[in-house]
Amino acid sequence: MSEIEQLLRPELRGRTPYGAPQLDVDVQLNTNESSYPVPDEVVRAAVAALHEGLSGLNRYPDREFTALRKALGDYLVQQSGVTFRPEQLWAGNGSNEVLQHLVQAFGGPGRIALGFTPAYSMHPIITETLGTRWVDGQRDAQTFDLTVESAVRQATEVDPHLVFLCSPNNPTGTALPFEVIEAMLEAAPRALVIVDEAYAEFARPGTPTALSLLAGHPRLVVTRTMSKAFTLAGGRLGYLAASPDVVDALRLVRLPYHLSTPTQTIARVALEHADLLLETVEAIKAQRDRIVTELAGLGLTPVPSDANFVLFGGLADAPATWQALLDEGILVRDVGIPNHLRVTAGTPEETSRFLTAMARLVPAHTSTKENP
Ligand code: PMP
Repeated sequence: MSEIEQLLRPELRGRTPYGAPQLDVDVQLNTNESSYPVPDEVVRAAVAALHEGLSGLNRYPDREFTALRKALGDYLVQQSGVTFRPEQLWAGNGSNEVLQHLVQAFGGPGRIALGFTPAYSMHPIITETLGTRWVDGQRDAQTFDLTVESAVRQATEVDPHLVFLCSPNNPTGTALPFEVIEAMLEAAPRALVIVDEAYAEFARPGTPTALSLLAGHPRLVVTRTMSKAFTLAGGRLGYLAASPDVVDALRLVRLPYHLSTPTQTIARVALEHADLLLETVEAIKAQRDRIVTELAGLGLTPVPSDANFVLFGGLADAPATWQALLDEGILVRDVGIPNHLRVTAGTPEETSRFLTAMARLVPAHTSTKENP
């Protein structure tokens, strides 16, 4: 062990950092960003707003991001029909930071978090790096579904302080049945139940949002992000809705002025242009559905998706297919599930590049018998 490794907190020794490859290739379909650039109209409005605010950078930003909270509330009522007061909303530099605030405030040494994997890889990373014990709950190994019965059994066994539910679930794509969320609030009576809805805007029609459950459930938290449907991954703005007491507790752990003036400004301008920015959502959903249909037609096994990506199985050797796609300038994600890869739904052209390459690769890259 090196001298520095000995200095490191023991629970961090030997860990590897989050590391989705960032490669400069033609077709980047690996981190579920939007392939569509921010429209000119929004760029112009953001530049004007930034220009107006830049001379004020000698002052700290509004620590309570009041105007941004109001704008987030306006968006949520329009999107989900649920009304939120500013004191029920919180934001951070991406929903990762918002999740970190939650674990900082409600996790910690001696506490247990339960999640159901495969799910978003940052949930255990944020949890464990903050000294909280992570318990890897299980989904159905074939379908990746999580039933009420299985979720309740696991929560009862573990009796967690924090529960992570991801709906629509990354990397599998499917939204959770509403009953699982409700059952979890009962089966984990001392837990803060976090529903990560990063991909909510892409859900298939009729998929409910946990936002509508918040009113009667003070231990429920719903996190969202502007990184996906809002085409704003580089803007770094994630947020959550919860009871005012939960939000109030997050003030104890956030660093003062954590949302810079430019971040607040850009997010506000984006929310003012929500309709325009969200125009690409339907186009992305159409490509997602096309990927599901066409991959199934090739004999692969795509998982039904409520997100902007598709997980598909049926590959003989997923890392080999990942490399073969990369050799053609197409970057997808190997999330470590044997025989599976995940692909983000891009523009029609990008999706065609991916599907054409897959059609060519399938004969040599599939086998009737999957690896165990
Ligand atoms: N939750 C889920 C399920 C995600 O997939 C991601 C990003 N891949 C995030 C949260 C974090 O995104 P951001 O920090 O950009 O909001």
